[in-house]
Amino acid sequence: MSRDYRFADSFGYAVPDSPKMLRETLCVAQARIGNGPPDPRNREHIERLERLIAECDRKRPLHHGKHDSLHTDECGCPGRSPR
Ligand SMILES: [Zn+2]
Repeated sequence: MSRDYRFADSFGYAVPDSPKMLRETLCVAQARIGNGPPDPRNREHIERLERLIAECDRKRPLHHGKHDSLHTDECGCPGRSPR
């Protein structure tokens, strides 16, 4: 399914958390929702979290769960400067 990113530039977020830490928290939230009580909106919350996790992965790519040397300007590793 293709995503509509027409408005993405209007939703710039600035948070002090690195993509690594943000991803970890988002994954915990996703698991808690998935394992929590049934709710008609669970699917939408899980899919929204999935998009946020994908954005973290765009900023800080992983290969088999490891970032290794897949650095970007936004990965947050020491010595890598944010844009
Ligand atoms: Zn890096």
